[in-house]
Amino acid sequence: MKAIYADLKRVRMRPTSSRVAVLHLFHEFPHEHMTADQVFRRVPPETEQCSLASVYRALAQLLDAGLITSAWIGEQRVVYELNRGTRHSHLVCSDCGTICDIDDNALESQHEAIAAAHEFRYASASLVIFGRCAQCAASLSSAVQRAGALHGMDRRVQ
Ligand SMILES: [Zn+2]
Ligand SMILES: [Zn+2]
Repeated sequence: MKAIYADLKRVRMRPTSSRVAVLHLFHEFPHEHMTADQVFRRVPPETEQCSLASVYRALAQLLDAGLITSAWIGEQRVVYELNRGTRHSHLVCSDCGTICDIDDNALESQHEAIAAAHEFRYASASLVIFGRCAQCAASLSSAVQRAGALHGMDRRVQ
């Protein structure tokens, strides 16, 4: 808990109960990505004045102060996570929603090069790669095999 208060003090934010609860959650799970709704559902219910609106407000303020980061992961979804001091991109499974961090410095320098080629001064990039995770790909191919086997059986019956 001390680290939370120190963080808030460093960015000159008053430690309101919702800010403390939200930031504490990110410190507890430093590698997790959470939507505002997920944050709201995971904040201890005894937290004072912690409505969904105050969670949204706390997220916006913590984001502004640089204590957390956010990423758009397709459709209307935005996830938040602890700012661990390194920029990264995301891989998103379009079946189960699993989000995987990609820490790739080569990617970062490519972004810079692309920006420079268009005479832009590079600030940041937000890259999301969509696909199917290994687990979902495996269960899909076994489902396809099962369907194929069933289809074969049908034909034998006829
Ligand atoms: Zn998946
Ligand atoms: Zn991430």
